[in-house]
Amino acid sequence: MRVIGSERFSDHRPPSGHPEQPARGRVMHAVGQRFAEAGGELHAPRPATRIELERVHAVEHVDRMAATAGEVVALDPDTYTSEDSYDLALSAVGATIEAATYARETQAPGVALVRPPGHHAEQDRAMGFCLFNSVAVAAADARAAGIERVVVIDYDVHHGNGTQWMFYEDATVMYVSLHQYPFYPGTGGVTDVGRDAGAGFTVNVPLAAGAGDADFDRAMRKVVVPVATAFDPGLVLLSAGFDAHRRDPLGGMEVSTEGFGLLTAHVQRLAAAACEGRLGVVTEGGYDLEALEACLDSTLAQLRDGVPADAPASGDTSRVDAVLPAVQAALSPYWPGVF
Ligand SMILES: [Zn+2]
Repeated sequence: MRVIGSERFSDHRPPSGHPEQPARGRVMHAVGQRFAEAGGELHAPRPATRIELERVHAVEHVDRMAATAGEVVALDPDTYTSEDSYDLALSAVGATIEAATYARETQAPGVALVRPPGHHAEQDRAMGFCLFNSVAVAAADARAAGIERVVVIDYDVHHGNGTQWMFYEDATVMYVSLHQYPFYPGTGGVTDVGRDAGAGFTVNVPLAAGAGDADFDRAMRKVVVPVATAFDPGLVLLSAGFDAHRRDPLGGMEVSTEGFGLLTAHVQRLAAAACEGRLGVVTEGGYDLEALEACLDSTLAQLRDGVPADAPASGDTSRVDAVLPAVQAALSPYWPGVF
């Protein structure tokens, strides 16, 4: 297992009071340092290249982001740069590519502890705290390296609109999201299933506010794992946002730190069964510092220790049960053996 991180990720400085704050980078660095002190492998990131970015981003977008180097710029009402943000966004993407490459080559998990996050960044614009879409660039890089099918699983509380649209017509990269709905950014309804050649290769499980461990666990068992297993990926990527945590100030969900462990365990078992454990993980959101630190520490420990035994969550499943029939009906034309 390898972790890619840097204390420099705290040098991306949105305006004071912004939830995607520099202290998140300090938490990530502390987690990485503890992992290293316990004998884990911690690597510094390299910047992504133009060629890598332009696999999913428009040339004009990369140019616009490059023009923010050294500058404080408001890219949208939520999304800002400071002097070092462009360099750090490049490093966030590079770290994610490295995590995925390590996973591909060694069959052990690679983890990128990075900010700014990425999954809202669109092909042609920054959005929702995100400059470049790190997980999407890593998925495209794996495709370019010869992996035939990549699945991106995203349990951040927000829908990853950028990742969805980048691969919406693509049958080789499946995007699977569990998220609060309706909520920012507004996309990710059950009928967003992909288009043309990509129809059936976008999977959304939109959950009402208040969903907790048992809802998310059931969504994994009933939808995410079955459809991703049928897809037969050569690489699993995880957009690991922790803003569905019950402590999170932005999300309205009730997932516990232990609940995130259960969700990650499903992803680990999927990767073990489908592709010899090839699992790349990248941080996305997670805005309560205490919850972020606890979730990252426990996620790294669980990835290091190997695939845990299956342990179903108990509790209320009314929110997932309310949406499962619609999700399954939307996907059944494309996955008749699964739903
Ligand atoms: Zn989020």
